[in-house]
Amino acid sequence: MTDSQSTAEPAAPTPIPGKATPFAIADMVVEPGGCETIALPVSNTATGLPASLYVRVLHGQRPGPCIFVSAAIHGDEITGTAVIQRLLPKLDAQTMAGTVLFLPAVNIFGFQAHSRYLPDRRDLNRSFPGSAKGSLAAQLANTFLKEVICHCSLGIDIHSAAVHRYNLPQIRIAPDNAPLRELAMLFGAHAVIESPLRPGSLRDIARGEGVDMLLLEAGEALRFDELSVRCGVNGVLNVMAHLGMIQPHPEATQVTIPARSRRSIWVRAPRGGLCVLQQKSGDAVHKGDIIGRVAGIFGDDPEDIRAPIDGMIIGHAVLPVVNQGDALVHIAEVMRFGDVEQRVDQITDGLLNDRLLDEDELI
Ligand SMILES: [Zn+2]
Repeated sequence: MTDSQSTAEPAAPTPIPGKATPFAIADMVVEPGGCETIALPVSNTATGLPASLYVRVLHGQRPGPCIFVSAAIHGDEITGTAVIQRLLPKLDAQTMAGTVLFLPAVNIFGFQAHSRYLPDRRDLNRSFPGSAKGSLAAQLANTFLKEVICHCSLGIDIHSAAVHRYNLPQIRIAPDNAPLRELAMLFGAHAVIESPLRPGSLRDIARGEGVDMLLLEAGEALRFDELSVRCGVNGVLNVMAHLGMIQPHPEATQVTIPARSRRSIWVRAPRGGLCVLQQKSGDAVHKGDIIGRVAGIFGDDPEDIRAPIDGMIIGHAVLPVVNQGDALVHIAEVMRFGDVEQRVDQITDGLLNDRLLDEDELI
């Protein structure tokens, strides 16, 4: 400081160029380069004890965007919990730009009970925006909205198929949003599905707040699936690198173009009985192809299940015991149908062979 600059008034602290300012969430402050686990108060449950929404904040040393990664909004869909567990040791707030809020078990009540729902039997993903004086689901949704979404410009919400079903890893996004489509494509999942937003869903309310959302659907409820977990880890890292928050994957090569779709249909059981599928998620099918067969418990009167359209299977039932009308196979009508199966196989091989996605490998 020179004499000419000296004054009696203490100067306000000047932000250091290239260094982030402290991050305030609820009544906590996280310093640049810091990492904190914060319990956001939600409600009071039957035990009489406080119930909280747990968030791990990684606040980078350098300024950048703020994003969130959430899992188990449906309490039994735990793929994202595994993704977050594997991501955390790979990230270092000291070298990172921007901020990530990780929420590994948003619906902690359903998570503990192995249930999609909350104890009040509501679906959290139909309860947004919620309210502080509403049901338990409404209070949880409201806390998520007020304390998490409001900080962020992008959210990555990770789901799996419902119980007894499997989903090929796929990103679902709002239709007709070109920048979001670009992010969805570089995430690196097997498919990108543009689908309408459901009222009361996290994606719906986030859009109202100006927050873009990538929804990853991958794997099966109540199970960990290595391909799905790797896809989630790789995707979050790809997005963070694209946003300049971390260095890109050192071995990143040409990214395979995922299957893209704007329309999908479920094929249902033509009769009750035992179902044997001959095709699985990731397979391309032509209209009229036999996908599987359902027969009675003595093997009687088998009925074929046939593909109603040309497309790729993006989800299938894994429980062979079916009632007539049960949803068995989810088929997406895809662009560039001709080589879709090869591209999807390439994505699988790339994920399973990438040693940087191994459990203990540091990037
Ligand atoms: Zn879900």
